[in-house]
Amino acid sequence: MTEKPCRCLLSETGEKELLENIREYISGLDENVKADEETYRRRLSLCEKCEKLQNGVCLKCGCYVEMRAAVRNNRCPSENKYW
Ligand code: SF4
Repeated sequence: MTEKPCRCLLSETGEKELLENIREYISGLDENVKADEETYRRRLSLCEKCEKLQNGVCLKCGCYVEMRAAVRNNRCPSENKYW
């Protein structure tokens, strides 16, 4: 865990075990439920620019964005609907 809050994804915080659990969760998702890779990457890059991102968590909903963005039908919880 980084010492100070950062506007960064979990993959940048050093939380390896948690990230591994999230990756395992994503790989277990049904293909019909999972967002495609391009969509996933685009979503995460939008989160990286968002002021609500803190240490991999969206302060709007409390989700790990790397997890939330992986589900096709999930949407950004912001009123701005970044994705
Ligand atoms: S408000 Fe939307 S864009 Fe911002 S961190 Fe949350 S999910 Fe990502």
